[in-house]
Amino acid sequence: MTSTRARIVLVRGDITEQTVDVIVNAANSSLLGGGGVDGAIHRRGGPAILAECRELRASQYGKGLRTGQAVVTTAGRLPARHVIHTVGPVWSKTEDRSALLASCYRESLALARTLGAETIAFPAISTGIYGWPIGNGADIAITTARSHGDAPLREIRFVLFDEPAYEAFERALTT
Ligand code: ADP
Repeated sequence: MTSTRARIVLVRGDITEQTVDVIVNAANSSLLGGGGVDGAIHRRGGPAILAECRELRASQYGKGLRTGQAVVTTAGRLPARHVIHTVGPVWSKTEDRSALLASCYRESLALARTLGAETIAFPAISTGIYGWPIGNGADIAITTARSHGDAPLREIRFVLFDEPAYEAFERALTT
């Protein structure tokens, strides 16, 4: 039987330059912008993304988006059809929040599939300002992508901003 699972691709680069159906944003619960990937997406995507985020806050997400959940907006001027915003957990030394990080990838992939997306690009969620160790973050990302890349998804692309992140994902992919 032929597999319908999406292939996993690693790219070193900037997620805002990816031509894909869906770009995933490592957002914060306010949905109103922040630093890192979030800042880059809003800068390059233009004000249409923030306008939709504000509408989401004014309607069903009055208290913000919960950690591990995902919502969709336009991609504005980005070379994508949609941006899926998901809120990663802040790294904790004392509490295991892995299930929440896995949930970000799983919920984003599920939402992308309902949108009919064939290609999706992820950053390494939580591994920047939120402090998640890159090796473990890569393992969770790859494991979750492997088990949730069903059709119509064809390609799950991880866009890694620096060499250590790229190498961590490469290790995760070959184990
Ligand atoms: P979080 O708050 O979830 O940690 P960050 O945006 O701070 O989110 O960082 C998540 C990851 O994205 C980090 O590994 C960071 O190096 C990387 N990153 C930052 N800017 C970009 C970008 N433009 N494209 C792809 N990855 C990026």
